[in-house]
This record gives sequence, structure tokens and C-alpha cells, in this order.
Amino acid sequence: MEIKKIAVIGAGTMGNGITQVFAQNGFPVTMIDIKDEFLERGVKAIDRSLSRLVKKERIDDTAKSEIIGRITTSTKVSDAAPADLVIEAIFEDFEVKSKVFKELDSKCGKKTIFASNTSSISITELAAGTSRPGKYIGMHFMNPVPIMKLIEVIRGLATDDETTSAIMDLSTKLGKTPIEVNDYPGFIANRILIPMINEAVYCLMEGVAAAEAIDGVMKLGMNHPMGPLALADLIGLDICLNILKVLQEGLGDPKYRACPLLKKMVAAGYLGRKTGRGFYDYSEG
Ligand code: NAD
Repeated sequence: MEIKKIAVIGAGTMGNGITQVFAQNGFPVTMIDIKDEFLERGVKAIDRSLSRLVKKERIDDTAKSEIIGRITTSTKVSDAAPADLVIEAIFEDFEVKSKVFKELDSKCGKKTIFASNTSSISITELAAGTSRPGKYIGMHFMNPVPIMKLIEVIRGLATDDETTSAIMDLSTKLGKTPIEVNDYPGFIANRILIPMINEAVYCLMEGVAAAEAIDGVMKLGMNHPMGPLALADLIGLDICLNILKVLQEGLGDPKYRACPLLKKMVAAGYLGRKTGRGFYDYSEG
């Protein structure tokens, strides 16, 4: 099936990035959030990101206006109805996501594909709450979406071949590299990344080395562009903790237990960049 019209639910970090990438590649996109102010913030983020591309001479002002012109915004989930593909990028909460998909299910045509950008929630379980588990798939974009090449494409137990190949083809059209994986807790990206971050927090807690030293070893020794603690600050320590819970509950292995220091930092509200303090201090911006 040909996917022409896109709806993105959520105008936050991921939602506005996903909207930008589709609009940049010629797709009309409806971006939906609960409040106008969140939509305005999302559109502003897209505008800033495109302006950086203009400055770098990767696009010109006309192209920028055309891209912005392909984006419409709405506070009504029902405005996703004409879309061939709806991508959800809202809070990482099963109940919240399920509720939105139930509403979408009643509003969208039977052929509309549903995708979730969830980092860790079961695609199979989210799909089972809709009338179209065959047409439900995970599209796990990486942050920042306009820059990162990977889309982890997650097949739920019921996802059909036609949907999977349509999403793999579409991802390639966006200039991304899709990699297909099966639905298990944390998929591949977070199953490997988050335990590594957790181990780095244990190293810090046990006094093996200071944060800068732990990150320095991983950057210089493993060629990682960012150290694990700086990356945890970027992702959000609360999100890292939630993913560890999903891994431990879903896989039942105590090796995924969250480091007590990570729990303590989340309890203190030290969530990383977004709160100005995590393993590093961002209070100076
Ligand atoms: P965010 O908090 O920046 O944005 C979420 C947006 O969803 C908010 O603007 C919120 O108002 C909106 N929203 C909440 N409920 C809604 C509803 N019922 N209808 C419409 N909009 C609603 O979150 P984010 O970082 O963009 O994450 C979104 C999803 O992407 C999560 O599932 C997350 O796990 C996943 N993800 C995040 C990252 C990351 O690095 N931030 C990376 C990959 C995947």
C-alpha cells in the first residue's frame, strides 16, 4: 500500500522531530497534541531546526517555507482520520497510549497503519487493544530525529508482512536506515544501551571513577560519541529508570535491577538536562 498522508500524535521532542522529517521528505503531516501551546512549541522547534539547515546552506528559505507549509496542527485526535499512517509519540505510559489508540481505532479507516514510537512498551500488547493488530507496528526513531539514521522497526506478534514491508520502504524514503527487530522488552537499542548506562551509574556509586573519567573511558576507549552518563542526562534519568523496570519485569532477570544511585537521583528530581542537573550540572545552560 502507498502511504501518502501522515498524522503524528504528540508535538514533544520526538513528535516534532518525526513531523519535520516527514515534511522535509514531501509528506503532508498533521501534528496533534492536547494543547495549542504544546503545538506552538513543537512548530517553533521545527522552525529552529530548519533555520539551522538554512544557515548551513543545506536548504534555502523557499524550501523551508514549503516544509513548514506541509505541516498542519490540531488538538483533536479525530483529525488523524484521513491519514494512511498514524505515528504516536506521546508519554511513555501504557494506559495513556492505549486510550489514544482506542480513539484512533474508532476514527481511522481500517487500512490505516498505526505505529508507536515507544522506547520500551510491548508493541504486541498495544496492538491487541486495537481492532487491527496486523496493521500495528513499532517505529522507534532515535533522538534527535532529523539527525539520527536508525529507525528500529518492531514487529509485534501479529504485525503482518504487508505492514512491515510498507514501513521498511517508507523509512528508506525518509533517508533513514530501518532495522527490523521482534517485539521483546527494550527491543534491541534499549536492551543493550540502558544496562550499559546502569553499569556506568554503579561504577560512579562504587567510586570506581568520577563521572568525567567514566565517560572519558567510554568515549576514547570505545569510540562512543558521548559517555554513558552524559547520554543518560540527555535521555532523562527517569526514562532510563522506567526502561530498566520494563526490562526487569519483562525478562524477569535480576541483572536489570536499577542502580540505587539512579533511583536516588530520580527521587531527588535530578533528571538530567531537562531539570538542569543530572550526573552533570546544566544550570549555566
Ligand atoms: P515529550 O514529553 O517531549 O512529548 C510528549 C508529548 O505528548 C507532549 O507534548 C504531550 O503534551 C503529548 N501528549 C501527551 N498525551 C497526549 C494525548 N493524549 N494526545 C496528544 N498528545 C499527547 O516526550 P518524547 O521524549 O517526545 O517521547 C515521546 C515518546 O517517544 C515516548 O514513548 C518515548 O519513550 C519515545 N522516545 C523518546 C526518545 C527520547 O530520547 N526522548 C527516544 C526514542 C523514543
